[in-house]
Amino acid sequence: MERLTQAWAVTAPGAIETEPLERVSRRIPAPGDRELLIELLACAVCRTDLHLAEGDLPPRHPGTVPGHEVVGRVEARGPGASLFARGDRVGVAWLASTCGVCAYCRRGSENLCPYSTYTGWDRDGGFARFLTADERYVHPSLTPSPTSRRRRSSVPV
Ligand SMILES: [Zn+2]
Ligand SMILES: [Zn+2]
Repeated sequence: MERLTQAWAVTAPGAIETEPLERVSRRIPAPGDRELLIELLACAVCRTDLHLAEGDLPPRHPGTVPGHEVVGRVEARGPGASLFARGDRVGVAWLASTCGVCAYCRRGSENLCPYSTYTGWDRDGGFARFLTADERYVHPSLTPSPTSRRRRSSVPV
């Protein structure tokens, strides 16, 4: 049976007074290659989310779920995902992926990659109970579970 979950989506961008965020039922996404299924613990609201809801930032696909300041817990791992364990507390931020081969990526300035994608814009974000994210762009918690393989990071989530 298909498992459904709740999310807040931007179906028709408009002034925030018109309540452009709509509560929708969605299928719980299946994590793809090197992706994690993350159950939300908290998601902050950033100005960029408001820009998306109001249409200043044109949605990259219809019904985008905003939210890119996510703290959650790993619920499941997709094929090849190995950096985190189920139950790890993780953070998901604005940068969702980069090409990995352009001049910017190769010199470590991946934030300038012209082929980058973004959480809550290209990919559905954290205004939802569940989201998926590429594990290579997921941040470990300061207080990870003992099984985490990335426990020495200092990302404050
Ligand atoms: Zn932001
Ligand atoms: Zn690149």
